[in-house]
Parts: sequence; structure tokens; C-alpha cells
Amino acid sequence: MRRLTITREAERRLRSGHLWIYANEFGVKLGTLGVEPGQHVEIMTPSGRSLGVAGMNPNVLIAARLYTVTAAGFDARAWLESRIHSAISVRRRLGVLEAGRLVFGESDGLPGLVVDRYGPVLSVQVGTAAMEVLREEIAAVLLAIDGIETLVWRDDIGARALEGLAAGTAISGLAPPEPVWIEENGGRFGISPVAGQKTGWYYDQRDNRALLMPLVRGGRVLDLCSYAGGWGVCAAVHGARSALCVDVSEAALAAVERNAGASGVGERVGVLRADAFEACRSLREAGERFDVVVVDPPAFVKRRKDLEEGSLAYRRLNEAALKLVAPGGLLVSCSCSHHFDEAALLQALGRAALACGRGLRVLSRLGQSADHPVHPAMPETFYLKGFLCAVD
Ligand code: SAH
Repeated sequence: MRRLTITREAERRLRSGHLWIYANEFGVKLGTLGVEPGQHVEIMTPSGRSLGVAGMNPNVLIAARLYTVTAAGFDARAWLESRIHSAISVRRRLGVLEAGRLVFGESDGLPGLVVDRYGPVLSVQVGTAAMEVLREEIAAVLLAIDGIETLVWRDDIGARALEGLAAGTAISGLAPPEPVWIEENGGRFGISPVAGQKTGWYYDQRDNRALLMPLVRGGRVLDLCSYAGGWGVCAAVHGARSALCVDVSEAALAAVERNAGASGVGERVGVLRADAFEACRSLREAGERFDVVVVDPPAFVKRRKDLEEGSLAYRRLNEAALKLVAPGGLLVSCSCSHHFDEAALLQALGRAALACGRGLRVLSRLGQSADHPVHPAMPETFYLKGFLCAVD
């Protein structure tokens, strides 16, 4: 295996547990080394010690990702098998083996690989050139998992274009059921692993939804940016008097209606197709108030340079949402932007509350579900933040 030496600075970061090596951390221009996208190399410190195998792509900023496996006798299939089975054993303990995220990239020691399970179907995202070259091995390991009949390759993620990989979707194994049904927090949800957003479902909010559910009985719930109704439909199942799901996506709202019906709460769940900001304005003008408002928008800060504009969007949306909370009600506010941290979200919330003269008390901090583990040395893996607040 080809050996590449990294700089002292990169060594320091890797020794503290981080897994990424940037393109400018090899001491020479990467282009001059003749490394191919997807190639596996052995990473060496300046003093000549091996740090193990990394998957490379010399054409991107994060040029190498460490696999924490020794180079001597490296066997990709055996390595994948052992990492994937380790990831699965954690999900078994969590009780989410049938419906949950089985593999979460770097956090599970599998940089560039995400796998979500919907019963017999696995929805797979391969995000790096180095994982792409292992596709056959990945397929073999995943199709050997008990109860798995189908792999849906969701190759329609932005990361692939950066890595120079083709976009699209593909199926291995049997054709997937459309939809495939899962249960979560008492609700029944029909998922399309082929056409749904991301891999089909937002498992990252499951634990947060569970925290809110005991608090919704008898209340009117507004679910802003609802997607397929994860919050709103579950709230109705848990005794909310009504739930209104707002999203810009027609497909998402059709799924809300189907899921509400399948969960036996169709009569208490309504949908509104609108931009969340517009919806808040028109609901306010109509004098509507809610006992619980959930704000779970798409990432407003996709790149670091969007920070200023994105922060403003979080503050504005939360302000608009706060105005709809009945006195004594609850606000759940989330952000899934990597570059917008917990402190920034709290500041946006605080400013929103001041701007509209509402008192806010944070009752609980929220994070991503346990099947999206955080890598202790990689803050990048802690991406979903949120707060459950009481509103005066
Ligand atoms: N709350 C969902 C996940 C939301 S993902 C859950 O728990 O499963 C973000 C959602 O916001 C997507 O469904 C997307 O269609 C929607 N969205 C994006 N921009 C929006 C906007 N301006 N107004 C309302 N919804 C929007």
C-alpha cells in the first residue's frame, strides 16, 4: 500500500482522535503525488510512524479520512464487516435495529457511509470516492444482515458531486415495498426510501419527539417544516386536540395525510402548504394560537459564509413562531446546520423572544437521536441542536 507522510499539525489533530486530513497537509502539492480518487493509502507521521489506512480523494478539501485500522494485511471486506457489525450491535442495544440509522459515517468509524433501515430495506448513502470503490463489498456485507432484502442507493446527495461521483438512485436485491411502513413514537409512517427526502425519514428527531409527546395532551400543535409529520402525527396520537403540519413540499404533505390516516388520527391532523414564514404571518392575522409550536427548518447555514444571513433567518422564524404560542405554551426549536452551533441557536432564540416581548425558559436541550452518535473528537458529527422552551 502506498505510504503518504502528513505534516506535524495534521499529526497532532489525528492523535487527538480526529479523522480528517486536508489537502494542504501532505507537505507537497497533492496533485504531484499521483494518488487516484478512491485510493487507500497508509498515513505516516513525519517521524515515520504509521497511523493506519485512509481513503483518499486528492481533488477535494478533505483529501483523506482515516479508517483507524492497521495497514498490514488490510482487507477492505473484513474491515467493513467488523465496523458495520459493531455499529449494528450498538443499535441492537438501543432497540432500533428494525427502524433506525444503522451507520452514521465517521462516528461509527465508517467515513463517507450512512445507512438507514426501514424493516427489510436499507437506504444507503455513499458520500466519498474512497467508499465508492468499496461498493461491492458494502453491498455484500449489508445484504447479509438478517432480514434485509433490498438496498436503495441514494446517490442523489450533494457531497457526491464534490467528490466527482455520479448522481442518481439504484436498487440492489428485491424491489422495495412502496411505501415501507415503520412505527415511531406510537405513529405509523409510510416511507419511500427511493423518493423521500434524505434517505426517506428523519430518525435524528425520534428521541426529541419522544421527549415532547407526554406534554401535548389536549393541546393545539403547530408543526412548522413538518416533512411527513413526524412531530405532528405523533402529537395527535399522544392526545393533542389538533395538529397542523406546514411544509412547502406537496409530496411531504401527502405523506402527512397518509400517515395520519394510518395512525388513526386523520381527523385531528391538518396540512397547510406554505412557506413557514408566510404561514406564521397568515395564521397570526387569522388570530390562531397554539399550545405547542415546533420549528424544525432545513439547514439555513449550509456553508460558513452563510452564517450571518442564516442566523437572521433562525431569529426571524423563531420570532414569527413565538408570536403564535399561546401564553403558557411550549416552543420546540431546532437547527440541523453544522456551522450554526448550540450557543448560536440559543442566542437567536433569546433575541427572538426579546424582540417580541415574550419570556422564554429553556426546559431541555435537544440533540440528535442516539442512533446518530457523536464522535468525541469531531464536533462536525454533532449537527442537530434544539431547545424545548416554556413561553410566557
Ligand atoms: N420536521 C421534519 C423534518 C423537517 S426537514 C421531521 O421531523 O421529520 C425540513 C422540511 O422543511 C422539509 O420537509 C422541507 O420540505 C421543508 N421546507 C423547506 N423550506 C421550507 C419553507 N420555507 N417553509 C416551509 N417548509 C420548508
